[in-house]
Amino acid sequence: MEGKPLSPDNDTTPGLNRFAVWLVLVVALLATGTAWHRVRSDVLDAAQLHFQRMALQLGTAISERMRHYELVLRGGVGMFVASRDVERDEWRRYIANLDLASSSPGIQGVGYAVRTPAPVLPLLEQRVREEGFTDFNVRPPGPRAEYVPIIYLEPFSDRNLRAFGYDMFSEPIRREAMERARDSGLPALSGKVTLVQETDAHKQAGTLLYLPVYRNDATPLNVAERRAALQGYVYAAFRMDNLMHGIFGNRPVELDFAVFDGDSDERAALLFDSSARDGLPPEHEPGELYLRTQHRLDIAGRTWTLRFDTTPAFWSSVDLNKPRLVLLGGLSTSILLVAIAWSLARTRSRALSYAREMTSALRTSATLQRAILESTDYAIISTRVDGAIELVNPAAERMLGYDASELAGRPLPEFFPDSELANRARQLAVDLGEPIEPGFETLVACARRQLHDEHEWNLRQRGGGQLPVLLAVTALRSELGEISGFLGVAQDFTERRRAAQAAHQFTIELEQRVEERTQALAQINLQLEAEIAERRHAEQRLQKAYTDLQVSMRAVQRHAREVAILREMGDLLQTCANLQEIGEVIERFAVRLFEHETGGLYLFKSSRNVLEAIATWGELPAGDAVFAPEACWALRRSKPHIVTAGSRDVSCQHVSTAQSYLCIPLSAQGELIGLLHLRATDTHDELDERMSCCTSAAEVIGLAMANFRLRERLREQSIHDDLTGLFNRRYLENTLDREESRAARAGSTLGILMLDIDHFKQLNDTWGHKAGDLALRAVGRLLSALVRNADIATRYGGEEFVIVLPDAAREACLRRAEEIRQRIAEAAASDPAQNPHPLTVSIGVALFPQHGEHWQAVLLAADQALYQAKKLGRNRVVEASDSSNPAEPHPA
Ligand code: GH3
Ligand code: MG
Ligand code: MG
Repeated sequence: MEGKPLSPDNDTTPGLNRFAVWLVLVVALLATGTAWHRVRSDVLDAAQLHFQRMALQLGTAISERMRHYELVLRGGVGMFVASRDVERDEWRRYIANLDLASSSPGIQGVGYAVRTPAPVLPLLEQRVREEGFTDFNVRPPGPRAEYVPIIYLEPFSDRNLRAFGYDMFSEPIRREAMERARDSGLPALSGKVTLVQETDAHKQAGTLLYLPVYRNDATPLNVAERRAALQGYVYAAFRMDNLMHGIFGNRPVELDFAVFDGDSDERAALLFDSSARDGLPPEHEPGELYLRTQHRLDIAGRTWTLRFDTTPAFWSSVDLNKPRLVLLGGLSTSILLVAIAWSLARTRSRALSYAREMTSALRTSATLQRAILESTDYAIISTRVDGAIELVNPAAERMLGYDASELAGRPLPEFFPDSELANRARQLAVDLGEPIEPGFETLVACARRQLHDEHEWNLRQRGGGQLPVLLAVTALRSELGEISGFLGVAQDFTERRRAAQAAHQFTIELEQRVEERTQALAQINLQLEAEIAERRHAEQRLQKAYTDLQVSMRAVQRHAREVAILREMGDLLQTCANLQEIGEVIERFAVRLFEHETGGLYLFKSSRNVLEAIATWGELPAGDAVFAPEACWALRRSKPHIVTAGSRDVSCQHVSTAQSYLCIPLSAQGELIGLLHLRATDTHDELDERMSCCTSAAEVIGLAMANFRLRERLREQSIHDDLTGLFNRRYLENTLDREESRAARAGSTLGILMLDIDHFKQLNDTWGHKAGDLALRAVGRLLSALVRNADIATRYGGEEFVIVLPDAAREACLRRAEEIRQRIAEAAASDPAQNPHPLTVSIGVALFPQHGEHWQAVLLAADQALYQAKKLGRNRVVEASDSSNPAEPHPA
């Protein structure tokens, strides 16, 4: 046991080992660093995303709420459009109905300010004072060309009372927004102001939203028209802190946010700050995590800048432990790996150096040799070439549980499990490329080949125990280099193995904790996603409510417009003089009321067996303008009839096309007088929603027709004589004015016949007054039958009649007079039962212009001729004499 080193690479091994340990350390640290960096940036990215999403949601909520207020103001404008004069009480009820305090808190008040030119100001002040506000004054005082004072403001209490009468046009920031609203016709938001409602306590920034109200319901088309038509403003005032609390309530905010008027975040423009920093951004320690972003909102023509900053609350919800955990786990794993590598390297070099020392010591001193052998913890066993144990040291005796004497000569493989030997042999065969026998050869194969070999075994101890060891084997060679035996050095590995198991267990636990944490994170992520989905759902609901509101606003506006048109049409219809005018008015308004439909208004002809259109609009086929009442279901059933195109509804015969249509019967004073018909222009249009407008139109037209008929009847009565039904004297005089000028223009003549019943007094006296009336009626009937269309028969008074014959020459007049005289005489004679008394008339005839320059003179001449006829014996015709000659009797 001397001379040769135990291993041929014993000089290079320590360097290599040290290098391997460093390599393990560097690789482990690099892997830990990469994993930590990756996880950290994932967590920060998620936080950034969450932050941006929250900022966006806050911004959207503000825009949505402000748009809602615009709608409220539009409703207010709608009131003014619909009814021109809105009373204070109506305004109060409108705002109270909206219930803004609970539906959208944050609004300070909704009001109306009226445009007042300087000369009208005293009138306005007086009018408001008369309403009971005796000390009402427009503020600030002083002469200005125009004032726009607040006259309505709801709720009319507390702070809002301070604004009553304030002239908003006198203040430049408000004025800018008011002018913008006036010129554009759109909602306009003001810059930052201090509301007059503010008191010294708890001062807040304020802003105002304006919507213009124009005179008349027509919308002016350009700036000049808008300026001229401006009547006032519907407006809302906001105190910013209240507005923001109204939108967001008191919920815990993970963000600080501040709202600035305009494009920058200067403190002077600060409208609202959710933190108490008065617009200043938060300060940060170096290395502290924080996020900041800015959004711009356009609200009614004004820009708001929103600045968002994260708060500590935000970061406490972000899982920063995850990267830390990864770092910690990585570092401890690295340390463990390095410890194992280092320990392995150290064990090996220590074993080797022992062997070296031992060899040299043995060479010099057997005593020293023994001392060393006995003092070490390493089991040292030397064998012969055939594997029989030669020497063991005390440590080997302890490990194996036998005395040296018991061990000497026993084959070493006895103390190794067969299965381990077999496995190791197989592995070595692969490594060394030649078959190795399981047995002693397995233990020394490497040493024999001068290869370093160190391997873990479980030594069999006395009593059946097993001891884990790390065994290194070296060949002992003679000076000639022949192998003279083998030396095995074994280290008790129990503690080391326990430590490795503990480290393994720790790693498993670590992995398990990381896994649990990851699952918790996934759970939180799921909750977050559910919350986002819920928010999105709420947004959709809000959007839907907003759309519904818009639809109903549009319906209200349309209805207001229809009511205004119907009212105007009703007013005009009341002043129409005849049916033609009525038709024209209806056509003109129907085109505005029923822009997208065609239709017509039909009235019964006097025969009542046919209806004829007096007004049509759109492109109604000409063939549909006249029809019999049986052709319409609405008329037959006296109720509206609606037919939808392509359905199974029963169709009316008077409708020749395939579109949907609507028939509404028209009544006046309870009598069916006609039909209002409305037809869609496209085959797929439906008319259900036009029903109410059409019904209102039918009512307005029916009422107007009833009035018209009443007026017609009165007029008829005023120009007719009750007893005979002939025209009366008033009508005669009007007609003669007209006929005289017409004849004078045309150079034609005008005949006037004056009749008087002969001895009528006698008839009355003999047969009674009633019989006299009957006779008068009979003469009236005869005269109506005898005169032609252009002629005019009138009862002049008592039993005297005048007949006007336009365009008749002298001969024709005389002939007609004679004919009338004869027919009256004959009629009485032919029916003595009806006329027991002989009934004759005397007639005087005169002509314009022969017998007078004016009809009065001609009438007098006819009267004189009549007098002559009486004088000459009655029952005859006498022509008026020329002004020189007396009247001449006409030969019968
Ligand atoms: P003369 O042939 O000269 O005309 O004789 P006379 O009886 O017709 O005379 P006069 O013209 O003076 O008489 C008119 C009478 O007609 C007087 C009045 O009693 C009667 N009279 C006038 N209006 C009415 C009326 O509305 N009904 C009836 N029953 N009688 C009337
Ligand atoms: Mg008379
Ligand atoms: Mg008479």
